[in-house]
Amino acid sequence: MALLPVAEARARILANVKPLPAEPVKLADALGRVLAMPIKSSRDQPPFESSAMDGYAVRAADVAAVPASLRVIGISAAGHAYSGKIEPGEAARIFTGAPLPKGANAVVIQENTEATLPSSVTILETARPGQNVRGRGLDFAKGDALLPAGIRLNARDIGLAAAANAPFLRVRRKPRVALFATGDELIEPGGKPRADQIVSSNSHALMIMARQFGADVLNLGIVRDSLAATMRAVGKARDADILVTSGGASVGDHDFVQEALKRSGVKLDFWKIAMRPGKPFMYGRRGRQHVMGLPGNPVSALVCARLFLKPLLGALLGLPDEAPMEARLTTPMKANDGREDYVRASLTVALDGSRTVAPFSKQDSSMQRTFREAHCLIVRPPHAREASAGEMVPILILDF
Ligand code: AMP
Ligand code: MG
Repeated sequence: MALLPVAEARARILANVKPLPAEPVKLADALGRVLAMPIKSSRDQPPFESSAMDGYAVRAADVAAVPASLRVIGISAAGHAYSGKIEPGEAARIFTGAPLPKGANAVVIQENTEATLPSSVTILETARPGQNVRGRGLDFAKGDALLPAGIRLNARDIGLAAAANAPFLRVRRKPRVALFATGDELIEPGGKPRADQIVSSNSHALMIMARQFGADVLNLGIVRDSLAATMRAVGKARDADILVTSGGASVGDHDFVQEALKRSGVKLDFWKIAMRPGKPFMYGRRGRQHVMGLPGNPVSALVCARLFLKPLLGALLGLPDEAPMEARLTTPMKANDGREDYVRASLTVALDGSRTVAPFSKQDSSMQRTFREAHCLIVRPPHAREASAGEMVPILILDF
């Protein structure tokens, strides 16, 4: 099978993917969830004309000439409206957030007054109509669009929804990801490795990455290099929307993932991508389930997950497509062969927002430390010609 271009691989993965159904969540559980429908306001905020300051509610006409002495006929405090009406020559004591009494049309701040007696006040400054008054619906009005669908909810979003009196929000169900790592050489972090063993990092990084991008993750741990063990693990992943495996994806004597997937009813779509790192990436479907067989090399596994798993999670969650990004190269890069290269690089963003990017000299797909230090990947399309310093190149942010 010929190597598949990255863009085509992604298009095949995303073909016919629809957002998952919506479900209600309480505000307390809504952080990071993706809003399934836009939120429109069913009320005005504030719901009444209210005072922006502590002071006196007056009729602006009564204080056109100052000092002006007014009779104080009542108090309007937050949560305790004054029900009377302000007639000429009258005022009401008022506090921030309290409804403006009928008849009044301005608030004079208390610093600009002198309370002569409890029942009268001298106003020292004039006020124009509407001064220190928040009009009804100043923040938002009934029918206003408050939150669009397809956003990951943050604290301000949730605060606004709360202000609009919504106790629940309809969000996309979280995609369920099941994952396991294959390899007789692997142990879990904290274990005692034999001389010929290493610690499994992929399962942990992938689990956290999938969670960060909105999934619920079932981590099935480490699976031994045998067909039976691999098939058992694939079986346990039955209920997942996405099954992600790491390692064992090539065609070596100890690579059982492809065979185990096929025997478990997975229809493989492709298993080799024209990219570096990450050539042995498998993709198929088992009914509605998406299956991704990632390579074992840590950088390859995570680059493939960034390229293919993140957009799939995004599509299942109804998130918009990622906008392409560019940066200016600091150093020349040589012409590329037929595989799309993802080159670890550091990114600098200047105060004016302009981005420059510097490729690392070491790019081995086993090197997690330089991967951790990289800010982004420079994308070198297949057969890209030499790039000179100062040229704009496409980049992919390492946002996990
Ligand atoms: P494989 O794809 O199984 O041939 O593995 C390729 C390389 O990645 C080998 O050097 C493995 O030891 C390493 N590797 C495989 N799985 C993991 C893992 N879960 N964590 C870290 N390294 C791994
Ligand atoms: Mg292996």
